[in-house]
Amino acid sequence: MSSAAFDSMWSALEQVGRVGSGGYRRFAWTPEDRTLREWFAAECARRGLDLTVDRVGNQWAWWWDGPGTVDDAVAAGRPGVAIGSHLDSVPDGGAFDGPLGVVSALATVDRLREAGVRPDVPLAVVNFVDEEGARFGVACAGSRVLTGQLTPERALALRDADGTTYAEALRAAGRDPAELGPDDETLRRVGTFVELHVEQGRALVDLGAPVAVASDIWPHGRWRFDFSGEANHAGTTRLEDRRDAMLGYADLVLGARHVATQRGCVATVGKVAVTPGAVNAVPSRVTGWLDARGPQEDQVRALVDELTGRAGETGAQVVRESWTPTTRFDAALGDRLRQVLARAGGAAEPLSVPVLGTGAGHDAGILATAGVPSAMLFVRNPTGVSHSPAEHAERADCHAGVEALVACVRDLTSLRAAPAADGADA
Ligand SMILES: [Zn+2]
Repeated sequence: MSSAAFDSMWSALEQVGRVGSGGYRRFAWTPEDRTLREWFAAECARRGLDLTVDRVGNQWAWWWDGPGTVDDAVAAGRPGVAIGSHLDSVPDGGAFDGPLGVVSALATVDRLREAGVRPDVPLAVVNFVDEEGARFGVACAGSRVLTGQLTPERALALRDADGTTYAEALRAAGRDPAELGPDDETLRRVGTFVELHVEQGRALVDLGAPVAVASDIWPHGRWRFDFSGEANHAGTTRLEDRRDAMLGYADLVLGARHVATQRGCVATVGKVAVTPGAVNAVPSRVTGWLDARGPQEDQVRALVDELTGRAGETGAQVVRESWTPTTRFDAALGDRLRQVLARAGGAAEPLSVPVLGTGAGHDAGILATAGVPSAMLFVRNPTGVSHSPAEHAERADCHAGVEALVACVRDLTSLRAAPAADGADA
């Protein structure tokens, strides 16, 4: 039954925001995003979940059949468990990054009900808004504002490529920008967050396992490099007279690769804007965006310092747009989930469940930083490709992911499982 529910939800989403490449363009606060948010709300309504939207626009759908409200339950020492992910995408992104976690969370509710499970604590399915930062340049904006890690003033001033501010985009989507801000009332309800996500690498292929538990998120950040020059004719301007902004940018791209190799990091310049942007004009301004990550925080910092120094020699301006130090997921929670998954898989040994670090940022990392015990489950991706139309997970693995999430939620929402938690906390 649950497989059918998963499959039909998956089909319903398949065409939303799909572009010619076969990938998706589902950016925050666009008509595609609205369609996805309405789809989410309808799926929650169909299940009788109580949908609330926080001050940021994240959608939380609560299942609580116990006495009183969700807030009453939390006040009585029954903090909620939240599961879910995001529905937005990068430009020409894949189908799985984000939606797999949301669809799996909704399918988990169905499976629990089929099994006659009634959670002892409130359970929420969440759809985080603007996780990818594809439109306004700040990843995990929804969870960052929620937790106070991005101020509303800064968020509202962000602009997309067309010059539209975040505030204008919110207004166009029918929201009041003045409402944007941290939302402690929402956060207080969430005692634990588990985000299921497609793996963005191919470790699970090599390990021969469909599901892993996450250990940490590598430190990562984004920097904007502005190189300036002077626009001039590409045919009549002598080489020695040129001030070509593209040259500094070219050095950044090659330098990023070189220094990242030396320091055991990864660095990418995946976005560039050229002014005036004509084939026959010397560029007067080139802006490149650097994304840098790695397992060691000091090495990532050293990489960026070195590239900033090189760019500075050409007079470039460098602005840090975001920075997230190493995020460690809750170790006791991770161990507990490994035990649950090992038991559910018929193995006595939790070590049979793989643990993976990741170079990708996630809302679960933002919540973990805010002090919410958080965990992630990764579902095998046969190609390892992500943020591309080629991103994939076999349907059987998607179903295995749902079963894993069901087992975890059953455990986390059952107060009878409390002794295991105490043991894990010790
Ligand atoms: Zn994602």
